[in-house]
Amino acid sequence: MKETEVTSAPDLKEARKRGRLASRSQRVADISPSPFLLTWGAGKHYYIETFGCQMNVRDSEIIQGFLERIGMTPTSDASKADFALFNTCAIRENAEDHLWGELGHMKQYAQARPGMIVAVCGCMMQLEVPFRIVRERYPFVNLVFGTNNVDAIYPLLEDCIKSRHRVLNVVSNPGAILEGLPSKRMEPHRAFVNITYGCDKFCTYCIVPFTRGMQRSRRHEEVIAEVRDLVRHGYKEVTLLGQNVSSYGADLEDNPDFAGLLREVSDTGIARIRFMTSHPHDFTDEVFDVMAERPNVMPYLHLPIQSGSDHVLKLMNRSYDMAKYMHLVDLVKAKVPDIALTTDIIVGFPGETEEDFQQTLKAVRDCQYDSCFTFIFSPRPGTPAYKMKNNASPEEIQDRFNRLVELTESITAERAQRMVGKTVEVLFLYPSRKDKTMMSGYDPYQHLVHVKGDESLAGQIRRVKITASHAHSFLGELADE
Ligand code: SF4
Repeated sequence: MKETEVTSAPDLKEARKRGRLASRSQRVADISPSPFLLTWGAGKHYYIETFGCQMNVRDSEIIQGFLERIGMTPTSDASKADFALFNTCAIRENAEDHLWGELGHMKQYAQARPGMIVAVCGCMMQLEVPFRIVRERYPFVNLVFGTNNVDAIYPLLEDCIKSRHRVLNVVSNPGAILEGLPSKRMEPHRAFVNITYGCDKFCTYCIVPFTRGMQRSRRHEEVIAEVRDLVRHGYKEVTLLGQNVSSYGADLEDNPDFAGLLREVSDTGIARIRFMTSHPHDFTDEVFDVMAERPNVMPYLHLPIQSGSDHVLKLMNRSYDMAKYMHLVDLVKAKVPDIALTTDIIVGFPGETEEDFQQTLKAVRDCQYDSCFTFIFSPRPGTPAYKMKNNASPEEIQDRFNRLVELTESITAERAQRMVGKTVEVLFLYPSRKDKTMMSGYDPYQHLVHVKGDESLAGQIRRVKITASHAHSFLGELADE
């Protein structure tokens, strides 16, 4: 490859300009590959590694759709790939470290295969420092793009191949929503459906409003058309995706809301609906009404609390307090009595005292989560929290984290034990990774369940009696034979 050609680098100042664009869907007029790419791609292999959240998984599905349209097929062996892509996550430092480790391996593969394209995309590439590191320290990475120009992959790839230049092109401002992009879904029975992109919340620790831009909601007709299409193709479950699904529609002129969208998705007849992630600030009671009245909306709610202390929530700019959060928890438990609640918690946020932490432990006891995703605060450059002073030592923070994990694990185990003996409906997906004589699937509460059986069960929703609970999964037997 010749010297770096940076056609566009990330610019946080530019990303911060968030003038309100009228949200509008826009069909992509022409995403047909050129004859050159069709010839280049035929018979070649791609490798994609995806880090981070479901939004990234969905982006990777779209990229796969583009690659398969030019005749490429997947490989799980990066060393044999003609095109190796890393779709990155910027949410925590360890996600970044993971990328550097993976790129370390790629260097030898790229040297062994001179025509190989090594590409990096995703949230990390929207940030100035990681972009610069890739540009300066990983010269074998010959293609970089960001979250806002996934749809430009054909011209970027063609430019990269033809010019023998590195092509580094990141767009800092998101444009209008693009519809009709190709897609190769990772799974045949459940699917992710984007309903919003970006976020307007500006939690002080989070980089997402800069890497994915302001909130843009898809028009409900587009969402419903996508779900109907999935139903036609035999899909049994959809997860409606967004950084903050509860504020769906706030940016659209006709102001549709999430509860209304959920009802419409339910009307499509899809067997199961989930959604994530929800922000407590924007949640309306009506969403719980829909969950209660529609059997195809699963009794599962991921409601990030982040901290149980009003003082820390304020520092985080979470825009709710514990009274509001507990009101929502009480309400959902009243309206959907068998609800499975999960959450995210950050430990060691700057300014968190032992007293604040005790309030988090109390909240965990009060809420009785089915499971908690717990994290130690990871300062992200470019966010307000990056500059906040942390008075707790790393040892104190680690000790808090350990105590929190001990509590959450014991509540998870206790709640799991209550499932034993119950009969639940399980959507079977694939053979168990550890034991190929077992099939694995998920119950309505998003519990992983393993049952003796073969692949003929895949895609079926069957009644299963839970016979044993393990740390984070269950054993069961078919109850409807
Ligand atoms: S709600 Fe807060 S934590 Fe979630 S994506 Fe938006 S800014 Fe980040």
